[in-house]
Amino acid sequence: MSTLVWFRSDLRCDDNAALHAACLAGGRVTGVFLIADAQWQRHHWGARKQQFVWQHVLALRAELAVRGVALRIVRCPRFADAPATVLDVAQQEGAERVVTNAEYGVHEVARDERVSAALARAGVGWRLLHDNCLLRPGTVRTKESAPFKVYSPFRRAWLEQVRGEPLGCVGAPPAATPVEAPALPDWMPPQADIDPAWWPIGEEAARLRLEDFCEQRIHAYQTDRDIPALDGTSRLSPYLAAGVISVRRCLQAALQSNAGEWDSGSRGAQTWINELIWREFYVHILHAFPAVSRDRPFRAETDHVPWRNDAADLGRWREGTTGFPLVDAAMRQLRATGWMHNRLRMLAGMFLSKHLLLDWRLGEQWFMEQLVDGELAANNGGWQWSASTGTDAAPYFRILSPERQAERFDADGAFVRRYVPELAGCSTKALLKPGHPELLATGYPAPMLDTKAARERVMQAFRSAGIAASEEPRP
Ligand SMILES: Cc1cc2nc3c(=O)[nH]c(=O)nc-3n(C[C@H](O)[C@H](O)[C@H](O)COP(=O)(O)OP(=O)(O)OC[C@H]3O[C@@H](n4cnc5c(N)ncnc54)[C@H](O)[C@@H]3O)c2cc1C
Repeated sequence: MSTLVWFRSDLRCDDNAALHAACLAGGRVTGVFLIADAQWQRHHWGARKQQFVWQHVLALRAELAVRGVALRIVRCPRFADAPATVLDVAQQEGAERVVTNAEYGVHEVARDERVSAALARAGVGWRLLHDNCLLRPGTVRTKESAPFKVYSPFRRAWLEQVRGEPLGCVGAPPAATPVEAPALPDWMPPQADIDPAWWPIGEEAARLRLEDFCEQRIHAYQTDRDIPALDGTSRLSPYLAAGVISVRRCLQAALQSNAGEWDSGSRGAQTWINELIWREFYVHILHAFPAVSRDRPFRAETDHVPWRNDAADLGRWREGTTGFPLVDAAMRQLRATGWMHNRLRMLAGMFLSKHLLLDWRLGEQWFMEQLVDGELAANNGGWQWSASTGTDAAPYFRILSPERQAERFDADGAFVRRYVPELAGCSTKALLKPGHPELLATGYPAPMLDTKAARERVMQAFRSAGIAASEEPRP
C-alpha cells in the first residue's frame, strides 16, 4: 500500500494520527503540504503566522526525510484548487490512498469533501482521521444528544469520557534510510519578525517548552496566569495552532506532573488542563455550529446589536493609543511580539466590543492578522465571549474595567512600563489612573472615552436589539 499523507495544521512527526496510520499500513509513504496563500489571506492569516507555519513546514520536511518520508511542498493558492492538486500529487507518487487529519472550519470541511470526491472518481482512497482534539468533535453531547453550548457542562461530560481512558499518544516513525527532500517551490512567506527566543522553531523546541512548563511553572499557573508581567503561562499556543505539538502530549505532561489526576491534586495543573479543555470546547463548537466560521454570531439575536464601524477609533485601538495604559500595553504587545496574554485578550476584546461598541469581527480580524497563534476556533470563541455574542458569553452588562483590571493584574505597572515605554518613568499611581496629569505630561493621550458613558451606550445598544439584561441561559 502506497500512501500520501496530507499535512495541514498538524506539522509534526510525533503523535500524528495520519502519519502513524500511513506508516502502520506499510508500503511507501510520501507527504504533501499545500501552500494555500490566497486562501490564507482570505482567512486573514498574518505575516507572522505564515512565517511560523512556513518555518515549521521546512522543519517537518527535514524531520520526515530522516524517517524515509519525502515531503512534497506544492503551491495551491486556493482551496478550490486542492482537489486537482492533491489528485495530481497522489498520481505522481503512485499513491493508492490519501490520509489526513481533519480540520473543522466550514471552508476546510467543504475542501475535504471536494478532494475526497475527486480522489474517489480517480480510484484513489481517502481516510480522514481526528487528531486535533483529544475527543473527536461531535462525540461530547448532552443527555438529549445535542452539542453543548456552555463550557462547564461540556467540561464535566468531557472529563467523564476521558477519565480512565488511555491518551493514545503514538510516537514518530522511526529513523529509516534518509530520502532526499524534494525541491522547494518558488514561494516565500511575507516578511515578518518572529523573535527566535520567544518562538524557537521545531518539534523539539515545543517539547522542551512543554517539559519546562510542566516541571517549573505549572503548579503556580493558577495564580501566575493572570499576571501579564510574569512568564506564567506555557506560551505553547502557536505550536498547538500549527500542530507542532499534539494536545495529547500536553495533557500527558500535565497529568504526569499531577500524579495522573485530571481534576484533583495540583490546582495549577488542573487549571491548565481546563484551558486545554477550553481549546477542545471551541473546536467542538466550530464543528457543531458552522455559522460561527461564517462570521455569524453564535447567539443569532445579537446580530441586531448596532455595532459601529469607525476607522479612527479602530485605529487608536489597534495602535495602542486609547489613553488606557493597560489596554495600550496589550495592543502594543500584540504588535511587537505577535502574541498577547490571555487576560489582556479578554480586556482588549471587551474594550473594542463594549467600550467602543465596534463590531467584534473587526477585532477578530485584527487579531488574526497579528497573532502568531491565530486560530479560528479559539479566536472566534474568545471574541464572541468578549462581545457577549457567543457560547459562554459574559452577560453584556459585565464589562471588564480597564482601571480595575490594571489595579488587580498589573498593580505595580510593570507590564505597562515594558510595552508603553513613554510611561516608564511615571509613578505607579499615575499608571493606574488614565488621564492622570503625569501621563499627559509625557505626550501620552487622554482617555479616548468616558467609561461610564460607554457602558451606558453598550447597554442601550443591547437593549435596542431586544436583548434582556439577564444571565446566560444554561442548557
Ligand atoms: C479575544 C481572544 C482571542 C483569542 N485568540 C486566540 C487564538 O487566535 N489562538 C489561540 O490559540 N488562542 C486564542 N485565545 C485564547 C488564549 O488567549 C490563548 O490560547 C492563550 O493566551 C495562549 O497562551 P498560552 O499558550 O501561554 O496559554 P496557556 O495559558 O498556557 O494555555 C495552554 C493552551 O490552552 C489553550 N487555551 C488557553 N486558553 C484558551 C481559551 N480561552 N480558548 C481556547 N484555547 C485556550 C491554548 O491552546 C493554549 O496554548 C484567545 C482569547 C481571547 C479572549
